[in-house]
Amino acid sequence: MNFRDDLHEASDWVASYLDRVGELAVSADVRPGQVRAALPASPPERGEAFADVLRDLDETILPGLTHWNHPRFFAWFSTTGSEAGILAELLIAALNVNVMTWLASPAATELEVTVVDWLAQLLGLPREWHGHLEDTASTSTLAALAAARELRPDGVVYASEQANFSVEKSVRLLGLEFRSVETDDAFRMRTDFPLDDATAVVATVGTTGTTSVDPVPELATRCEEAGVWLHVDAAYAGSAAVCPELRWCLDGCERADSVVVNPHKWLFTPIDCSVLYTRKPEVLRETFSLVPEYLKTTDTAEVNYMDYGLQLGRRFRALKLWLVMEHYGIEHIRTVIRDHVALAQRLATELQKRDDIELIAPQSMSVVVFRRKSGEEATMELLERMNASGKLFVSHTRLRDVYGIRVAIGNGATEWRHVEEILKFVDD
Ligand code: PLP
Repeated sequence: MNFRDDLHEASDWVASYLDRVGELAVSADVRPGQVRAALPASPPERGEAFADVLRDLDETILPGLTHWNHPRFFAWFSTTGSEAGILAELLIAALNVNVMTWLASPAATELEVTVVDWLAQLLGLPREWHGHLEDTASTSTLAALAAARELRPDGVVYASEQANFSVEKSVRLLGLEFRSVETDDAFRMRTDFPLDDATAVVATVGTTGTTSVDPVPELATRCEEAGVWLHVDAAYAGSAAVCPELRWCLDGCERADSVVVNPHKWLFTPIDCSVLYTRKPEVLRETFSLVPEYLKTTDTAEVNYMDYGLQLGRRFRALKLWLVMEHYGIEHIRTVIRDHVALAQRLATELQKRDDIELIAPQSMSVVVFRRKSGEEATMELLERMNASGKLFVSHTRLRDVYGIRVAIGNGATEWRHVEEILKFVDD
């Protein structure tokens, strides 16, 4: 293996993939099992040259991928593996440090302390809070609720019927009880539910279905009065708070006990990267800290990140969040987020000009949810026609039993000409 040559080849491959991804079919046209059948049943006895592996990637794997880094990928939450983030992933793998304790790699811990502080400043969250990086919001929420359980075992966790299902999953895993709370006309969590038996309340800032924002200030008041842990799932929409005009979405979060934001959703960081903030790091430590002899140290490090979550081995994720902020600068990040919101607003306006289309949820952030007035069958037909074309990829949701097509705009390369394709299918 000539590593330098292979590295050049890999970087050429990446650059030309990013150049041409917009011309590829967004979603894979394969049957279940088809890719597996094309792969050898056992690993090779002798290694292959990197060029051959790249050829296999092109011929066998690529046609079976759904291209999340495509400007016409509008499904679930559309994301961006940005160029800075891609470079960071390469550097992270080369360094391969394990951020379990400060001693394990001091600069990696201190870069993490720095980037979570930078992000707190950008989002307007209290800088004195503890923050650390997890892989996903699912893990962050699990850690937050485990901490809540430390203070109030055996209780109920309340979250809105629109909360992401990862909340209920964590609650089940922790042996707590999950109760879903009704939402108002705009799919925001109601606040008039009993709290006597509660361990925690989970509010969502940017629900998965419609990007509705729960009334965090009211929920914070109720939780303060009842002494209940308030966790805010701002996995997607939290990033919008980098724009001053969208910062309202995190109003009241400074009074929560914990908040999760996922830079891998709307902050141009390749998956995975989630930030968990808390005002009560001591409770997180009580929940998770267990130090074996071989990791005891005599240094006076402020933080050993293994004490705040389940994982001992931790990737050097701080490097990618750092590179994204450092390389693009906040002004550019704001511009791209604003563009996404403007594209979604323009799409909503255009859709509403059509007689047979209606929005089934108020347009919020970068998401638009709509249906054909003629009914579910016609709406499903439209979705299937769009996705089968390979030109774009959208997902669906069901809101109070009404089926709708859900368009999420979040890729850094997306422009109006990409979004406009949706209207061509609608009008066809
Ligand atoms: N919270 C919300 C609001 C989400 O939309 C999602 C996923 O889309 C999650 C949490 C789970 O995120 P993750 O995949 O990082 O666990």
